Amino acid sequence: MFWVGGPAWCARSLRRTSSLSRKEKSMKGIRMDERNRWKTSLPSNQGRLVQRNGSRWRNAGRGLVLAALLAWGLPAAAAPEPTLEQLLVEAEAIRSGDPVAFRQLLREINGRATKADKGQKAQIEYLNAYALAFSGRFNDAIKAAQALLKPEYSPDIQIRAGALIVNNYAGTRQFVEGLRQLEETLTLLPQATDESLKIHVAVAAAVLYNQIGQYEHGVRFADQVLETSKVPRELCFAGFQKAEAQFFLGELSNDDQALKAVIDGCQANKEVVLANLARQVLAQKWASQGQRRKAISLLQAHLAEIEGTRYPRLVGETHALLAQYLLEEQDIRAAEDHANRATALSANIAFSSPLVSAYRTLYEIAERRSDKVQALVQYRKYAEADRAYLNEVNARELAYQIVRQETLQKTQQISALDQKNQVLQLQQKVDQQAAQNTRLIVILLILLIASIGYWAFKIKRVQLSLKKMAETDALTGICNRHHFTIRAERALAECARNGEQAALIMFDLDHFKNINDRFGHGTGDWALKEVAEASKGFCRRIDVLGRLGGEEFAILMYGCDLRAASRVAEDCRVRLAQIETRETGHVFAITGSFGVTSTQQSGYSLAKLLSQADKQLYRAKHAGRNRVCIYDAEQESARATSNVLEMPHRDRAEHLGA
Ligand code: GH3
Ligand code: MG
Ligand code: MG
Repeated sequence: MFWVGGPAWCARSLRRTSSLSRKEKSMKGIRMDERNRWKTSLPSNQGRLVQRNGSRWRNAGRGLVLAALLAWGLPAAAAPEPTLEQLLVEAEAIRSGDPVAFRQLLREINGRATKADKGQKAQIEYLNAYALAFSGRFNDAIKAAQALLKPEYSPDIQIRAGALIVNNYAGTRQFVEGLRQLEETLTLLPQATDESLKIHVAVAAAVLYNQIGQYEHGVRFADQVLETSKVPRELCFAGFQKAEAQFFLGELSNDDQALKAVIDGCQANKEVVLANLARQVLAQKWASQGQRRKAISLLQAHLAEIEGTRYPRLVGETHALLAQYLLEEQDIRAAEDHANRATALSANIAFSSPLVSAYRTLYEIAERRSDKVQALVQYRKYAEADRAYLNEVNARELAYQIVRQETLQKTQQISALDQKNQVLQLQQKVDQQAAQNTRLIVILLILLIASIGYWAFKIKRVQLSLKKMAETDALTGICNRHHFTIRAERALAECARNGEQAALIMFDLDHFKNINDRFGHGTGDWALKEVAEASKGFCRRIDVLGRLGGEEFAILMYGCDLRAASRVAEDCRVRLAQIETRETGHVFAITGSFGVTSTQQSGYSLAKLLSQADKQLYRAKHAGRNRVCIYDAEQESARATSNVLEMPHRDRAEHLGA
């Protein structure tokens, strides 16, 4: 539905449209139905056609039924009731083209509304609102359509209802409300699933903006329709809206081709009102270019047709224009006649510039006739109409500015909210980033501490292993000579401090060279390890066992006197002799010669203790090996002389392995 100058015009214009041949209309309706429903539901379609036989379906309907029967080969007997959906499709198709049939169909639909689903109910409500608007009950139509502007209804139905309300506000001259509704409907438009709704709303917008004199917007929306629509009727509407807006903007092109094309298009589409409204624009353009006679001829040539439309705005404006141009051409009688005919329609063209112009024409005619009384009467009417018209123009401008400010305010509020949102979002991001950074720093610190710990541990381990390597004998795992010396001196010092005794056992394996020579160096190493292992068994934690070099060992026994140490030495000697050597693949004896001394005999000097023990060891060797010799002070001094004589000093030094 498109209103021009309000729905009152539409009713008449469209009723004229209904003067199309019945056959044409029926075919139009059927084509619509064919597209939407009948492809899949032929039987009910048949039923509908057969049932409606004798109404407007008579000719085309019967033809189609026959064609359909031929195509599908179905019997004509079944004549079920049309579905509600089919009735709705039909109503949509004829609502503007055949108002009488539409109202009848709507009654039938309303009778079945209880069985409608939610979407169908909304559609029925819309059609009822449409019918109210069509019959001129604008305020009732607005109320009915407003009931559909709820989120529970689909965007499509809300948009249709919105456009209907815009049209009706235009009809009731409630421009502020109309513009507000237009804004809301335009906001909904991106959600439309039916693309044709965009054109529908654009037409309503072009009409409203032209009506309030905002012609730039009129052109913009008319262009949207002209660019997207392929429907001749819509193109005729938009073409006229654009031409009218361009005329008032002074932007009509010099050649008349475009305007003539609009007139021809509307005429071809039987849109007589629009064709003649466009002719009015052309006539005004010519007159403004000084071609008044040409303008008068154009309007006079179509005057009968214009009057036939009985559309007040068109008829009134045409007479007013003719009156004005004829007066300028000095044809006073004809001018007066047209001016009177224009003012006779004053109720229908109130607040319009043609009415102002008609009264001015009558006033000027009275002036020329020097009819002062009549001149005053007409002047008063002229002044009154002019004031009303100017008030109207101001009211329209004000309405536009009010809604524009509201929209601006809304946009600003929205952008302020957007900005606030953006700030909040950024703040949130910053917080998240900060939290993430803290997490990263904590993780980095943990990693750093862990790696420091790891390296400290590794270094400590290396240190420990280096220390162990430095302190132990690699082959036997017991103290090497250097570490034995340190520990033994420490132990001796402690014993000295505590007034305790200590003893030193020293032993050297017998004929060890033979073992190496006979069974190999590996077996010799094995024997050394076995000896160290066996010796450990005689040592407490506080004692110190060490390999002094080669096959020579020593044990410092903490808190032991000579007797106790001698017993340990003897036990150790026995134990070495018991070492089982079979696992080497050889059977041989491991024996050692032991020398023992203690602090009581030798004092707390390690060097002295070692020297004295070594002497006893040497004595044991000499005595036949595999034995223990214990320090004896008396014997020692007696033997000292003979020992020195028996063994040259060089050999002794060799034996100690120092
Ligand atoms: P004696 O009873 O007089 O002590 O005779 P001996 O053969 O044990 O004494 P000698 O001093 O002649 O020989 C010691 C041998 O010990 C010489 C050397 O090859 C051997 N030896 C020294 N250190 C090691 C070692 O670490 N491993 C092996 N397998 N043999 C060693
Ligand atoms: Mg030896
Ligand atoms: Mg030796």
